[in-house]
Parts: sequence; C-alpha cells; structure tokens
Amino acid sequence: MLIAALLALQTPPPDLVVMNARIWSDGRVVRGDCLAIRDGRFVYVGPFRPEMARSGTRVVDARGQMVIPGLIDSHTHLLEGGVGLFELQLRPATSKADFIRRVKEWNEKLPPGQWLTGNGWSAESWPEKEQPTKEWIDAVTGDRPAFLTRMDGHSALANSAALRKAGITKDGPKDPPGGVIDRDANGEPTGMLREEAVGLVQPPPPTEEERYRGLLAAVKEANRYGVTTVSDIASVANFDLYRRYASQAEPTLRFALYARTDDWNRTITAVNAFKNVPGWAEARGLKAFMDGSLGSRTAFMHAPFNELPPGKPKDWRGVPMPGAVDGTYRQGFRAAAAAGLQVIVHAIGDQANHDLLNLYENIPDLKARRFRVEHVQHLMPGDIPRFARLGVIPSLQPYHKADDGRYCEAVIGADRSRHSYAFRSLLAANASMVFGSDWDVVTIDPFAGINTAVTGKILTGKVWQPQQNITLDQALSCYTSNGAYAAFWENEIGRIAPGFRADFVVLNQRTPTARTLDRLAPSEVYVEGRKVYGQN
Ligand SMILES: [Zn+2]
Repeated sequence: MLIAALLALQTPPPDLVVMNARIWSDGRVVRGDCLAIRDGRFVYVGPFRPEMARSGTRVVDARGQMVIPGLIDSHTHLLEGGVGLFELQLRPATSKADFIRRVKEWNEKLPPGQWLTGNGWSAESWPEKEQPTKEWIDAVTGDRPAFLTRMDGHSALANSAALRKAGITKDGPKDPPGGVIDRDANGEPTGMLREEAVGLVQPPPPTEEERYRGLLAAVKEANRYGVTTVSDIASVANFDLYRRYASQAEPTLRFALYARTDDWNRTITAVNAFKNVPGWAEARGLKAFMDGSLGSRTAFMHAPFNELPPGKPKDWRGVPMPGAVDGTYRQGFRAAAAAGLQVIVHAIGDQANHDLLNLYENIPDLKARRFRVEHVQHLMPGDIPRFARLGVIPSLQPYHKADDGRYCEAVIGADRSRHSYAFRSLLAANASMVFGSDWDVVTIDPFAGINTAVTGKILTGKVWQPQQNITLDQALSCYTSNGAYAAFWENEIGRIAPGFRADFVVLNQRTPTARTLDRLAPSEVYVEGRKVYGQN
C-alpha cells in the first residue's frame, strides 16, 4: 500500500506537503507525520520522505502540532449570522452604562433615517441585573428607530421611535398568542418584547446585496474557527445566494442546505429544483419544528415543568407545533423521503423527541434517508437506543449545554437533567451523533462546544452533569467524519486520507487535554489545500 501511495506521488509532484504534523483522523492519531496534497485532495498520509518535496511543491512545517480534518458544523443559520455581523454587536457590553455608550457611538455613525439594529446583549451578566427599557436608549437615539435583539433572539428592546412605527402604544395592541409586550404599571410599553411579540417590530429587511455581503462575512467567520463545511438552514428563497457564492473561483466553505418548510409540497419541489454546485453547495432536504425552547418553557415535555412561566397552568409541559399532531408532518416526511430528500427536525423536549422518533419510525427505508433530530436536548431514557436502531442521526449543539446548564435543573429538575445533552449515553448506544453550533444563536466556534462536551463546564465555571462527558476523540469525530455522513459527504470530506478533499486545520497545540481545551484554536486552516486562515 505504501509503495502504491509513493508511486502515486511520482508524477506530477504534490502541490503541498505538510510535514512534522501530529495527524488525527477518524477517531485517532494516524501513523506518520506527513500529508501530501495534489489538485485539492490528499494523495498521501504517512512518514515524511525527502523526495516528496520536489521543485514546485510548497512545504509547510506544522512544528509538531496536531492536524485535524476541517470541522463540519452540522447546524448553522449562516445568513442570519452574517447579516447580524453588520449590526451593532452588543455581546461585549458589560453594564447598563456600557450598553448605552455603545448604542450612542453606533448611532453617531449611521446616516439619518436609517434604523439602528443590534444583537447579542444579555442583561443577566451585568451588575445591575435590570431589564433594559426604551428610556435607556431614547436619549441617545432620538427619532431614529432602534431595535436590539437579545442574545438568544427570544426577546428584543425597541426604542420609542420603533414602537411608534409598529403602532405599539399604551392602548394596544394586545399581546399576540405566545408573546408578551412588557408594560409598566400604567400600561405604557417598556420597549421589551418577548417571543412572538418580537416580530411586531419589523426593521426593513436586508437587500439581496446586504444578504450576500452577510454570507461572505459569515464564511470568513466560520473559516477562522476551523469550520470548512456546514449543514446550513435557510429559506429556500435564499438558496441562490449560496449558489452564487459556491460558483465563484475559490470558495472556502461547503454547504449542505436545508430549507425551512412551510408548505411541504412546494418546498420539496423547490429543493429538488435547486441546481447543486457539486461539493460546495448541495441542497439536501427540509427543516421543521416539533416544539419551542427550554428557556421560554415552550419545549414539549412528557411531564410538567418544575418552574412555570407566568400565567401558565400548573400542569404546563409546553406544546407541540400544530404540524406535529395534525398529520402535516406525517405526510410531509413521507413525501420528502419519496423525493429522495433528508428531513431534519428541531426537537428539544423529551416528548417532542419521543413523538418525532415515532413519526420517523414509519418512513420506508429510513436508514438510507438519514433523517436527523436537531438539538435532542432532553430525552426519556427509553428513547436513547432508538436513534441507532432506527438509523436516525442525533444532531446536538454542545455549547448550548454551557448556557442551559445554569438553569436547567430549576426548570425540569435534577432527575430529567441527567439525560439532558446525553452525549455519552447516545454514543454508548451507538448513535451516529453530530455536533454543531446553532450560530447565530451562540458563537460558531466549535472549540467552545468541544470544550463543553469534554469537560462538562458551563458558563458559571461549574462542571454540570459530567456523567455525559465524552472524550476529545469522540467530540472531534462528531465534528468531522460523523458530520460528513450526516450531510451525505462521507466519501469526500471529514477524514485525512488519500482521495479525500484536502480540508484541514493545524491546531495551536500538540496534545490537547481537558486542562488546555479552553485555549485550543486553529493556527492555520486549509480548504482543498488552499490556506484560508492563518499567519503569512
Ligand atoms: Zn437552529
């Protein structure tokens, strides 16, 4: 085999040779310290031989650091994330005063009349612990409408000008179903809008060029964290932006695309009509929702929540989406499978997961379709082995555990929390688990998620439910080869082996351990042998 590999190197010479690398692929460190690339694919992995580096071959010295396949983020909302990068970034705000100062400075840079939009704030981490109100920002924004989305996207702050444009006053409207317009004792809106009420204020939608600019920025953001492929969720109306991006000379991110579904038949037709750019932008399937979220207590649970949202009855356990119970999904899943498409469905609560597996169970040839469950946050123990048995792929975002871990036990109790983010249980039951970020809800940085999955460390610094911790090798597999399988790309990417596309990351550590994981990051990132991030 080695001789055959060496013969393959004879003519023509490789374009790029990486030497002195600690190469990791497919769950383990590989024998040999060298890899060679020609025409965008690995042609050799093994011991370094001087004759490989001939004239015309670029040589990169990895200085003994670990080299892994390009990371595959199996759950992103890249377009929203990219467009959001051009808004005011409020994640770094550290206090009320700092928040207001940032809004003021941004306001001064904007042309008159343009909306001020921002995202990423979270008052919970500020010393004041007060919820912001429109008065905080009215003084610095004046007549300009301002709309600032909270970190999780489930609530937002509007100033008086934005409330006026939306027709939200002391006299109305009433709270929309599933939403709250916060009001003071006199009925005056405070500016805070929650859940379904967030949509009452509508800043002008981004133009096509603004969306494309957002996509380009999102690609850069993904690449700098070592992400070279994503399973991305978008409106089918935006699929052509991805095609435009992937058709250019040297794209640096691959997209498996999933369309948000309203009308199943229409969306199936639209997804099938998409002209794939092979290897770069391929339409894979459809995305739907079984339930809501834990934070808003709208996840659909088997038993009532321990901590109830205001105004909800004692036996409140969330609600399923209408399509989950009225037969729409039953039909839609079948129609998608018959059309050769993959279905991926958001399910957070344990009942939502249970019901979704029941719906999937009846799909003909389910294993070949590789249907997925997105989030899989809370599970009844009996459902854990069903993923492998049915061939259904659990798609989790480990960094959500770092956030939810702070309040999960209060909301659903200690017992149910033991099977929340069941990384280890799912792998032990042979599930083909994949990892992703859910950017733009949280950072796209895969190493933040890997750190959480391996150490169980949550945002407070505490270790939470460590019985679900997994090894670094396992976490990396969820972010590489497993992710490739989940996107039907297992013969192309996710491994460092001859024949595979040469997407890889040179890390800044040789042997990362649980103690050094919080500093683990890419120092160089390559896509098909082209450097897309790093020094020089
Ligand atoms: Zn998502």
